[in-house]
Amino acid sequence: GSTIGIVGGGQLGMMLAVKAKQYGYKIVVWTGGSESPAAKFADATVDGAYDDPASLAEFVAAADFATVEFENLPVEMLRQLEQEIPLSPNSNAIYTCQRRDLEKTFLRENNIPRAMFELVHNADELAKAVERVGAQGVLKTASFGYDGKGQQRLHGGEDLAQVWQDFGSDCAVFEQWVQFEKELSIMVARDAEGNCVFYDPAENVHRHHILDHSIVPARASDEVMENARQIAQKIVEALDYQGIMGVEFFLKADGQLVVNEMAPRPHNSGHHTMDACETSQFEQQLRAVAGLSLGSTRLLSPVVMLNLLSDVWKNSGDQPDWNPLWDDGSATLHLYGKAYVKGRRKLGHVNFLAKDGLADPLDRAKTIQQKWFAEV
Ligand code: ATP
Ligand code: MG
Ligand code: MG
Repeated sequence: GSTIGIVGGGQLGMMLAVKAKQYGYKIVVWTGGSESPAAKFADATVDGAYDDPASLAEFVAAADFATVEFENLPVEMLRQLEQEIPLSPNSNAIYTCQRRDLEKTFLRENNIPRAMFELVHNADELAKAVERVGAQGVLKTASFGYDGKGQQRLHGGEDLAQVWQDFGSDCAVFEQWVQFEKELSIMVARDAEGNCVFYDPAENVHRHHILDHSIVPARASDEVMENARQIAQKIVEALDYQGIMGVEFFLKADGQLVVNEMAPRPHNSGHHTMDACETSQFEQQLRAVAGLSLGSTRLLSPVVMLNLLSDVWKNSGDQPDWNPLWDDGSATLHLYGKAYVKGRRKLGHVNFLAKDGLADPLDRAKTIQQKWFAEV
């Protein structure tokens, strides 16, 4: 079939749609009714809610095969969709990554390194979980958490009944606080025949619980890099996965990697691949879900990806001064065309490529970030 269906209309869907167009596919985007950067690149859109049967019918009538650009989707819809047209990754894999309780249980069942955790459904279970896991931990809601939302750090001494009541979730995970040295992630793609390819792991630095910048390749030993690939492979195989996945890790001082979470789609820490790799993560996603062979993941140049959160915008409607980027000589700007909102919404990113005669990309990224923040 020649029409790709993308469930979700955000920037990840947009960057996939741009690639799909270059490959000659027609594109239908199911926006769910939200502001949609992807819609601008689509041949058709479906704008009803994700649990609306008429919208599902409209979507599957328009698309020959489908994928998702975010995972917080009703699983009943995904299962029905999959009955009608090929969906990759499969609904089970998406659901496992959507629900933190299923995700952590999956890791435990497959003997994949993870933080110690307990499932929590009420205040009693929270008290028991704190006893088993230890007082230093983080309570995470099972569904709909992102950018650190739906999480609460515990240090000991809290009134747990009160904590649970205020938390306002009926299913959560309490996990041990990991003393990590740094955070890493890897992008892995798996095709219909089960072949896997891996991108160089990224080193991720967060600001206010949101990814701020990624350094690629990560500054870690070959053993750590190899371990990341092996763990990622084990995950995609166990999920019978077709598509691209981001796996987030904590790297501990003893060199051990611990899986934090998985994203069943392109990932923010893979945005450097757009300029720094032979095949971008979006092109790879397209190739994997369309049943094509996978492309080369070769890193063409070391790179730093800097997220543009809306706090670098001065005021609504007023753009930051991009000119320092053009003085840099080897930076590329990717804007998502989303409306400014106060706070820290992801509105774009910049890739700083290493180049002879230029300073280290990390220093260049930081210099520019400071220029922008000085104005905020
Ligand atoms: P996103 O999906 O946007 O990456 P999220 O809301 O799903 O974020 P997590 O990735 O679970 O959240 O956690 C956000 C950040 O909080 C992590 O990247 C890490 O910096 C910190 N964090 C989360 N869990 C732990 C833990 N158990 N120990 C130490 N730090 C943690
Ligand atoms: Mg997450
Ligand atoms: Mg995360």
